[in-house]
Amino acid sequence: MPDQITNYQCPSCGGPLHFDSETQKLKCDYCGSLFTTEEIEELYREKNEEAVSVGTELQDSHDTLQWTEEEAKHMRAYSCPSCGAQLICDENTAATSCPYCGNPTVVPAQFDGALRPDYVIPFKLNKDQAVKKLSQYYGGKPLLPSAFSSNNHIEEIKGVYVPFWLYDGAADVHLRCHGTRVHSVTRGDDIITTTEHYQIEREGTVEFNKVPADASSKMPDILMDSIEPFNYSEMVPFQMSYLPGYLADKYDVSSEEDASRADVRMKNSAISEISRTVGGYSGLVTESQQVNIIPNRVHYAFLPVWMLSTRWNGKNYIFAMNGQTGKMVGDLPIDKGKVILYFLLITLGLMAVLFVILFILM
Ligand SMILES: [Zn+2]
Ligand SMILES: [Zn+2]
Repeated sequence: MPDQITNYQCPSCGGPLHFDSETQKLKCDYCGSLFTTEEIEELYREKNEEAVSVGTELQDSHDTLQWTEEEAKHMRAYSCPSCGAQLICDENTAATSCPYCGNPTVVPAQFDGALRPDYVIPFKLNKDQAVKKLSQYYGGKPLLPSAFSSNNHIEEIKGVYVPFWLYDGAADVHLRCHGTRVHSVTRGDDIITTTEHYQIEREGTVEFNKVPADASSKMPDILMDSIEPFNYSEMVPFQMSYLPGYLADKYDVSSEEDASRADVRMKNSAISEISRTVGGYSGLVTESQQVNIIPNRVHYAFLPVWMLSTRWNGKNYIFAMNGQTGKMVGDLPIDKGKVILYFLLITLGLMAVLFVILFILM
């Protein structure tokens, strides 16, 4: 019977293939041969189509496993085409690797029809670069406890293609403000102050292209928002052959559910863009702002993210790195002793400055 999942294998030696960020090609782990994504896509087209139809047929039959009804709803079982082991995956898993033989595996049924992403930004940075970036990230933080940076071991590091919705749209803004300008003139002993009052109105439309919001409930939104921006000029039409060697989940937050996040961002940027045209007042009060979002197209894209996790003093620390630009984000512990010292030094510095000023005045 044909398989539900695909192991991409080297046409020359049968070794496992993974997408290599350096050459932007598929590379064989054994013989080092390189193949373009198009070559591999063509080679696996038929196999992937078969896998999709098998996947749909088997969707509801998990008789071999002793799952509760609740588990069965959210889990999928596949058999690894390379070693025959049974892979138990989350219902959203789209790309993973076999825990027994290590072969990268892709689940073609997760990309069928409407589930097929429009675009992908292929990984540009590899695991070693992510590890290096993390130590640079520690380096720039003066309040980090020394024990954290010196004894810190990365517990887990994984390259993940994260599903994102990219929203196109426009925002109509109507802004009303009250501005004042104050002039003073001296006539003899009198100072005459004039305050001018202005009613300011602005109306405008700001257009947006590809405002991102991650479509995976597993990914912390705050981290995903912070690793932006991605460079969309390097985005290419989706092909499954970009996935081997990485993890991927299909979306589990719909584009309708995610739209409010994009709307808020469009709203805020549109208001600040229109507000920038109001200037030259000594006092300015916003009286009303109305924003109307006009949604347009939504695109589905897979964007590259390195997820790193460490443990220290019984606590987990999670970091994310943009797999295209190298931007690193994440929480770090703060050394309380260092904080006190830091503020003490600043205070001492201020006192020294005051002292110098007083000295000059005397
Ligand atoms: Zn090979
Ligand atoms: Zn296997």
